[in-house]
Amino acid sequence: MACLFGHKWEGCKCTKCGKMRDEQHDWNGCRCRKCGRTRSEGHDYIYRQRRKNVLGQQKLWCEGECRLCGNTIDIEHDYQPTGKKCVLKCTRCGHTIEAHHFQPVPGICADICSVCGEERDYTKIALNDTETIQNREAAILRLKEADMIPDELKRKCKKGDHLWKVSKENPQRFQGGASSTEYTCVLCGKKNVEVDWGD
Ligand SMILES: [Zn+2]
Ligand SMILES: [Zn+2]
Ligand SMILES: [Zn+2]
Ligand SMILES: [Zn+2]
Ligand SMILES: [Zn+2]
Ligand SMILES: [Zn+2]
Repeated sequence: MACLFGHKWEGCKCTKCGKMRDEQHDWNGCRCRKCGRTRSEGHDYIYRQRRKNVLGQQKLWCEGECRLCGNTIDIEHDYQPTGKKCVLKCTRCGHTIEAHHFQPVPGICADICSVCGEERDYTKIALNDTETIQNREAAILRLKEADMIPDELKRKCKKGDHLWKVSKENPQRFQGGASSTEYTCVLCGKKNVEVDWGD
């Protein structure tokens, strides 16, 4: 049935011929109940934790998926204190992390949290591949002072498997010139320079 003498609109839909219009939708959040059209507001996200590779580093993100339209977003966690000492929880996905107030303790090779008493063992940090290079370097420094570098790490250096950290960057000085990056092993001090000859 065609509506020759005008449609009979009920919101966005004509009740006589079924034609849709982009007006007066019946929004349920981001989705129209009548025609199924979606909009960019009113999403109803369900959050979960997800790993994402950002510039070579594993980052933990909150991923939201709208249960009405399936739209997804990545967002930083919203960590808030919980009833437990030194434990923070994301208000969206529920992921928890520990946030300690570590203080070095003279005489032992560990830091201790001044709030909950948790111990941070330098040897574990030095050996942990998922720790940042800054944390590992700091831990290695402490272990060096105490002459307690784990053999496992020494062996790695001997095999040429160093713990590289960017120590100097020489940017291109003129167009067509070379730029270089200097790496230093935080364990044995070996240096390595990578040159990019430009174009
Ligand atoms: Zn109609
Ligand atoms: Zn509609
Ligand atoms: Zn949605
Ligand atoms: Zn989260
Ligand atoms: Zn703590
Ligand atoms: Zn090394």
